[in-house]
Amino acid sequence: MEFSSKLLERAVNEMSQLPGIGKRTALRLVLYMLRQPKEQTLALSEALQSMRNEVKFCKSCHNISDVELCEICSNPKRNETIICVVEDVRDVMAIENTSSFRGLYHVLGGKISPMDGIGPHDLNIESLVHKVKAGHVSELIFALSSTMEGDTTNFYIYKQIKDCNITTSTIARGISVGDELEYADEITLGRSITNRIPFESSIKL
Ligand SMILES: [Zn+2]
Repeated sequence: MEFSSKLLERAVNEMSQLPGIGKRTALRLVLYMLRQPKEQTLALSEALQSMRNEVKFCKSCHNISDVELCEICSNPKRNETIICVVEDVRDVMAIENTSSFRGLYHVLGGKISPMDGIGPHDLNIESLVHKVKAGHVSELIFALSSTMEGDTTNFYIYKQIKDCNITTSTIARGISVGDELEYADEITLGRSITNRIPFESSIKL
């Protein structure tokens, strides 16, 4: 791609670093911004900078939050003894949208994936095991994707807490989870949480 301006080229190159955005799309977006009032582009760059600099992670569930303890964790109406284990903030948003879950979450920040060099210690697993062992949890619901990595992660956690005398369950298999959890329709996702199955029956021991 030949550019008539270095400034334009730089903006397009940065924009095309985003997933799913090729050079052509990046150019279209950048040209669109050039046609918009200056304030709009400034508002966008300001929003991105503030988010990057100021975003926090809840000290209890690791969800993205503006404050130390997120709104879900600090809500006294939530049942703090039931914890739904998810991969990232998108899963929290998807499950919250169903209004079928009144417990708390624990955001792992990914899945165990040796292929990508992600081991258990790269994820928020220790704090989860600690929470369970501290005795404040009655049930863990695994809501990771039904992939090999999801299964590996579930099982890794399960092994560490299986002697803790708590209920472990998993949301029904066949439901799109992980990357696709946000696309599962709310009724189906809500049902799969309500009709969750015991974790032991979902694994081949
Ligand atoms: Zn939280």
